[in-house]
Amino acid sequence: MTTRRALLEGIAAAGGINAAVAALGALGGLLPTPAQAAAPVLPRGGRPVIVIGGGIAGLVTALELKRAGWPVKLLEASDRPGGRCLTLRAGDTVREADGTTQKVEWDSAPHLYMNPGPARIPHHHRGILGYCKQLGVALETLVNQNGAALAEGPDGPVPLRQVNAGLRGLVAELAAKGLPRGTLEAPLTTADLEALRAMLRGFGALDHQLRWQGSSRAGWAERPGLEEGKPTAPLDPAVLLNPVLWRGATFAEGIDYAATMLQPVGGIDAIARALAKALGDSLVLNAEVFALRRTEAGARVEWRDRQRNGRLKQETAARVVLALPAPVLAALDTDLAAPRRDALRDLFYASAGKLAFQCERRFWEDEHAIYGGISFSARDVNQLWYPSHGFHARKGILLGAYIWGGAAGARFAGRTPAQRAEAAVADGKALHADYAAQVAKPVSVAWGNMPLARGAWVEWTEPQRAASYALLRAPEGPYHFAGEHLSHQTAWMEGALISAWAALEGLAWG
Ligand SMILES: Cc1cc2nc3c(=O)[nH]c(=O)nc-3n(C[C@H](O)[C@H](O)[C@H](O)COP(=O)(O)OP(=O)(O)OC[C@H]3O[C@@H](n4cnc5c(N)ncnc54)[C@H](O)[C@@H]3O)c2cc1C
Repeated sequence: MTTRRALLEGIAAAGGINAAVAALGALGGLLPTPAQAAAPVLPRGGRPVIVIGGGIAGLVTALELKRAGWPVKLLEASDRPGGRCLTLRAGDTVREADGTTQKVEWDSAPHLYMNPGPARIPHHHRGILGYCKQLGVALETLVNQNGAALAEGPDGPVPLRQVNAGLRGLVAELAAKGLPRGTLEAPLTTADLEALRAMLRGFGALDHQLRWQGSSRAGWAERPGLEEGKPTAPLDPAVLLNPVLWRGATFAEGIDYAATMLQPVGGIDAIARALAKALGDSLVLNAEVFALRRTEAGARVEWRDRQRNGRLKQETAARVVLALPAPVLAALDTDLAAPRRDALRDLFYASAGKLAFQCERRFWEDEHAIYGGISFSARDVNQLWYPSHGFHARKGILLGAYIWGGAAGARFAGRTPAQRAEAAVADGKALHADYAAQVAKPVSVAWGNMPLARGAWVEWTEPQRAASYALLRAPEGPYHFAGEHLSHQTAWMEGALISAWAALEGLAWG
């Protein structure tokens, strides 16, 4: 009996991947739906492939090839899989390109970890969530937005719920006052206007005269108990217009930051470890590739075995997938065409970084009732993340800085780890007055200084996208390409995975 899979593989072998996808549609119910994003169906048993780089892009590429019965080997320079998908725990070491080394001296416990790169997964990133589901990676909620968390205003820290309620009150009052003057284009009946006023009253928690006079949404000045409660007074509109405040209160409106956000239980590297486990001995760790050359049959890959005193090795394959960050690939000794090498070199990578402390006491829970979420600083540290796990445990890892890049990122990367920590403590005091006494054992990762990444994520300019995106995605002879930078979901694991699926389609074709 011909199985659906065998039939599809036959169609794919004869007519290519598009024919197989069309057949999937015709068979009905098998096309990936938004709820089950899927890797492309590959013809079975293709030619040997070497994948270089064991981040999410390389791991996914290699796993799907292995599943389809292709001979595949994944060479990863580091002693662990995952690349930027990294978790740090007690005993780990962070090594920067200039030899600077930090040892993680935290206690050993399942909740005491830091994700220096990816940390959160949006609920609509169906690809990465699909692998988590298939591979049994347990997930839990990541609290991304928390009204109890703080934003640093001109007069000191303000709970985000107060900012949010104030913004809504302000906008609703302005809109309600503008209504009678007929500012809307649409013809509205008296009943429509009444419905709109009722909505605005609810949206902004306005009083019966359609004024924003404060509400318990903004928090309590006096909590209700035996006596009636008293809401906090509305914030001055001039304070609300401070960008740290309004950006902090509204950032989770963005689809990539909105609830529900997820995280793997115990650290983001659970995803990389699960992919690596499924790959088995197809994954070779400590294999640092340094040169690539075309051959008649494909390409030759030269690499150093970092576990055996850098012993030199080489092997050939019909196809090679380069799943490396652009600055890393640009620095290798390759015979890639000059326009591609130039385009790789021109791509700009953000020098984002993170710093975490171990805290003996979860003061954010004890004193501020902050359970997960993010506080926003007006200073270099930018964001403080409170753990969404280990609630009420004795200790916790507090992310004391998440710096996106720019001038603050360059300053962060330019400092020694001790200087970064000193600056983060000074900045953090603006949000938590007794911060210095609460935080200890800092660990920081400045991605621009990490030798196997050389940056946090790509930042395409529009002209570069127009000039180089198609070029960098296109296969070149035996070489195929994948990586976060080859997608429109840059700075997300989903982007790395989408690029891997695209590379697989290219391999299936040629
Ligand atoms: C600070 C930060 C925050 C982020 N936050 C999120 C988030 O919350 N959610 C999310 O989904 N994504 C997030 N991302 C993005 C996500 O980490 C990346 O998009 C994704 O992990 C990139 O995967 P990749 O496979 O393309 O590259 P990488 O992970 O960089 O993989 C490349 C691999 O190549 C290896 N390598 C390098 N040189 C060699 C060599 N010479 N030979 C062999 N192997 C080599 C490296 O060791 C590495 O394993 C974040 C990234 C950063 C830096």
